[in-house]
Amino acid sequence: MQAPDTATSKTSNFLRQIIESDLAAGRLDGRRYAGVPGDALALADAPLDAARIRTRFPPEPNGYLHIGHAKSICLNFGLARDYGGVCHLRLDDTNPDKEDDEYVRAIRDAVRWLGFDWVAAGVSHEYFASDYFDFMHRAACALIDAGLAYVDEQSADEMRRRRGTLTEPGVDSPWRERPAAESRERFAQMRDGRHAEGSMVLRAKIDMASPNINLRDPAIYRIKFAEHHRTGTRWCIYPMYTFAHPIEDALERITHSICTLEFEDQRPFYDWLLAHLAELGLLAPPLPHQYEFARLNLTHVVTSKRKLAQLVADGHVDGWDDPRLPTLAGLRRRGYSAGALRLFAERIGVSKSDAWIDYSTLEGALRDDLEPHAARAMAVLDPLKLVLVNWDEVIGSGRLDDCSAPVHPHQPERGRRQFKLGAELWIERGDYVEQPPKGFFRLFPGNRVRLKYGHVIECLGAERDADGRIVEVRARLVPDTKSGTPGADAVKVKGVITWVGAADAVAAEFRLYDALFATEHPGAGGADFIAELNPDSLRTTQGWVEPDAARAPGGTHFQFERHGYFVADAVDHRAGRVVFNRTTTLRGAG
Ligand code: ATP
Ligand code: MG
Repeated sequence: MQAPDTATSKTSNFLRQIIESDLAAGRLDGRRYAGVPGDALALADAPLDAARIRTRFPPEPNGYLHIGHAKSICLNFGLARDYGGVCHLRLDDTNPDKEDDEYVRAIRDAVRWLGFDWVAAGVSHEYFASDYFDFMHRAACALIDAGLAYVDEQSADEMRRRRGTLTEPGVDSPWRERPAAESRERFAQMRDGRHAEGSMVLRAKIDMASPNINLRDPAIYRIKFAEHHRTGTRWCIYPMYTFAHPIEDALERITHSICTLEFEDQRPFYDWLLAHLAELGLLAPPLPHQYEFARLNLTHVVTSKRKLAQLVADGHVDGWDDPRLPTLAGLRRRGYSAGALRLFAERIGVSKSDAWIDYSTLEGALRDDLEPHAARAMAVLDPLKLVLVNWDEVIGSGRLDDCSAPVHPHQPERGRRQFKLGAELWIERGDYVEQPPKGFFRLFPGNRVRLKYGHVIECLGAERDADGRIVEVRARLVPDTKSGTPGADAVKVKGVITWVGAADAVAAEFRLYDALFATEHPGAGGADFIAELNPDSLRTTQGWVEPDAARAPGGTHFQFERHGYFVADAVDHRAGRVVFNRTTTLRGAG
């Protein structure tokens, strides 16, 4: 099952064109697939691959996924869905230092929540790069034997110095021409834990004078005495990402390996490595190809796992799912729907040049996705009490008047919500002024407004406490003006205000979020991004909501009339503690 709806309206892009041309030209025909990832041997008698293409989403489990990953997920899973293919979820766990099972679980949750699945035709395509460590080790040995790799015992500093620059070629290592047998022996000692970290590495032997620095004998294996989250202490040597990634793609029979632009310069090594391993008989053709697209940069947030991890670790935010973070867990808790993120990914498209996307584009997709879904409700975020002084005469002492409103103004089939009006109600503090500025149509002494879905009232004035703060507005009900009753419109008013009844409204906490960073491009130009945090990114208020909204389970979306989109907090909202997060304001609102 793959995500339906919003993401299926397909705009073409260069990746779609590549895939369509590959399919049309039959370039992907004749690929074998053994049902599980496999080397040349495993594929020898394997049947043809039933998947027309294979893509993969390969996060490193060293943090939570963010909005940038959502772009990659929608792209890779979306292409597989649209072209009769399969997308693998690959946990790229070749660097044991920062990887953890907590992150693996969070990644699975995030991909499923976005509406995608790596189970195809009953087969799970969740893979771990660490499952290929044996093969990678074998591949490294084969490269040494073929004279295509050597153990280099220079210090890291020496290697750096001899790598050359963009304008100067590198210098060959003194270990470059050592016999293969000697490299094999050294490599075996590395694997057996007999050498210290950093004392030597295995390097591919390519060309120290290559204009592409990535081809100047890149390191492919290093010593690291670290406990791996899955293989424990079985290994003390680990493959470098640039060596591991092409192999992972090839073993999984990926056809289109899609990554971000910064890997463009790695593509020649990707192709060099796979071609040689195929020649050596370890991998079966056809080999995967790498294609690059522009990563997502979103204004006012950071989309680097390292920076996000720092925000969490140093307590600048309240965990990985803090609603201010652009992590998928944070966006979800903030009230972003999966459909909104898919719509956003579709709208920004894919291109080959880096750009910043304005945060308002994400909010626009959110509003478009939520508008038809979110139930409406009234909430008062900054409450001021209003007393209807003639209630007892007009309606009756102690009586409450039943009011109702549509759950959704354009979807009558969703029914109506019920709430009560009484002699006392809550209004927004900002809806009353003593001296109205020009164009102010809400409450001021002598003015009439309509209580939305209720009656017309006429403002009499306000009471102040000893400090001069307004504590209560007084008004009188204008008889025979109840919304929906005959003749209700006879009394004309220019203003309509939202409210909740003191008798049935439920006390609620509202968490009003603003941009996490005050600057558009946090940390740009090497600046300290921490210094650019917005000190007012969270403001909490205590107010009141309609009873139905208070009863909704955590995760329910609402449009609070006049205020914007809110979600019942998935963690803290429950009976006895009503908590709403503001997802975004209404269009055009401040
Ligand atoms: P980070 O730098 O935040 O750690 P990463 O690229 O190292 O990000 P990975 O876990 O390695 O994170 O990424 C998994 C996949 O998601 C990769 O294919 C990567 O290209 C893609 N990806 C990561 N960030 C973005 C982004 N901002 N926009 C688009 N794709 C992204
Ligand atoms: Mg990374």
